[in-house]
Amino acid sequence: MTEDYPHTLMELERRFATDQACREYLFALRWPHGFVCPRCGGRQAWPTSRGLWLCGQCRYQASVTAGTIFQDGRLPLTLWFRAMWYVTSQKNGVSALGVQRVLGLGSYQTAWAWLHKLRRAMVRPGRDRLAGTVEVDETYWGAREEGVVGRQTHDKALVLVAAQQEGARKIGRIRLRRIPDLTQGTLHGFITANVEPGSVIRTDGLPAYGGLPGYRHDPVVIAGSGKTADELLPRVHTVVALVKRWLMGTHQGAVSHQHLDYYLDEYTFRFNRRNSASRGKLFYRLVQQSVQVAPHPYRQLIMPPLAGAS
Ligand SMILES: [Zn+2]
Repeated sequence: MTEDYPHTLMELERRFATDQACREYLFALRWPHGFVCPRCGGRQAWPTSRGLWLCGQCRYQASVTAGTIFQDGRLPLTLWFRAMWYVTSQKNGVSALGVQRVLGLGSYQTAWAWLHKLRRAMVRPGRDRLAGTVEVDETYWGAREEGVVGRQTHDKALVLVAAQQEGARKIGRIRLRRIPDLTQGTLHGFITANVEPGSVIRTDGLPAYGGLPGYRHDPVVIAGSGKTADELLPRVHTVVALVKRWLMGTHQGAVSHQHLDYYLDEYTFRFNRRNSASRGKLFYRLVQQSVQVAPHPYRQLIMPPLAGAS
């Protein structure tokens, strides 16, 4: 399937005016090579009047949203599509309150849950690892951020940042992950999961980064270099500053440690597609990945302690 997506809000409104139109779009993304029955693997199906597909082999009535983040929804798909458009068309993303207002949702909880479901769809299963020369460094989120209010600001969350070098100064793709500690096992686990073997790993002098077979370690030594850590690992430091600004801006710093990973996923999704020619393309990716991930029922998302969190 060629990448087919709306380019403007007008186009979106026209094209996805009915749930049936949304379902057909999801169908093409979920089964790009034609229908596959989730029960028997049959390849032939007929649409039913209830918006399902009847398998010609086993008579199973398949739903295009079953097993995706859209399943069990009582709200129309047309509203989901507008939520996805809003989330991807805003360069810096949106808060749950913003989504609630724009879509006229009756409940803040619904807006909050939708955003969290969509964040889970922002990580593509089996995505490529970073490669080439990759800067890796750790940072903290929470306790020291000025203006952070709420209950979870006593401890700091530890976050690892990886940024791929592109040319002399530019940043390629990034990866962000909350980690429990700075032990060698944790650091090596992150690198193995996020960077292709054979790559060069540039870090500060923390010894725990070293000794990973299959990678070339290039520790920079700050002492005596006449340079600051920012100058020696400029990309990760830029990314750290941008992520923090985003968390403080779009989300007013009200991000609990418990949910931090999902916000980091959202930031990664946005950053790695920041040069995309069309916002519609982000919409397309989000819808595509939304029908590829397992559903996340509300009870699994776990509400934040206070409704003020975004
Ligand atoms: Zn079947």
